[in-house]
Amino acid sequence: MIIAVDGPAASGKGTVARALARHYDLPHLDTGLLYRAVAAAVRRLELDPAREADAVAACDFDDLTLADPALRTDEIGQLASIVSAHPLVRAALLRRQQRFARQPRGAVLDGRDIGTVIAPDADAKLFVKATPATRARRRYAELQAHGASMSYDRVLADIRARDRRDMRRDVAPLVMAVDAMLLDTSFLSIEASVQKAIAMVDGRVGRGTGEAQA
Ligand code: C5P
Repeated sequence: MIIAVDGPAASGKGTVARALARHYDLPHLDTGLLYRAVAAAVRRLELDPAREADAVAACDFDDLTLADPALRTDEIGQLASIVSAHPLVRAALLRRQQRFARQPRGAVLDGRDIGTVIAPDADAKLFVKATPATRARRRYAELQAHGASMSYDRVLADIRARDRRDMRRDVAPLVMAVDAMLLDTSFLSIEASVQKAIAMVDGRVGRGTGEAQA
């Protein structure tokens, strides 16, 4: 079973995807990390993220770098949304994601274009959204918990900037697949979001009980 989870930054899609993977006992790939790894390599090599050739040169990263917590900063997220707009960068990362999706037992992938480009034939597709203010509040609380000193207004502005870039790019923009199910987490707790996601996937794949299955 392939489950595609898409949505904007800080919508809760990562949390939902991880919980679905645990529930159905499937491997999980956070595809944002791939673009973040490219962004980190661009910065390390002092390349220009806006130049496609520079960003492509940074696509040959080691899988081990995906575990680096430094990839999760807001600065790398912004850079990732710049490098991810280059068609050749997306092409360079495509096969890796499709290979992951086509494992024999299936997989859960989360990102921006999983249901539309990477796994258009996924068994269940979720599009997770929340209002920009809700997402900014969550991200702000997360940053504060990690001791980062960014203002709420700055977090909100960054989220809006990233949304704009991700939705307006020409290649694989962030859009809801026509056959995706919408999960709005604006007024839901994490637990309620996860339960709703499981019920939606069960409903789509014809499982009534919500039991874990390989
Ligand atoms: O999901 P995350 O915030 O880690 O993604 C970082 C950036 O990578 C996004 O803002 C987006 O530009 C890009 N991305 C993408 N396609 C994906 C996953 C992430 O373009 N499937």
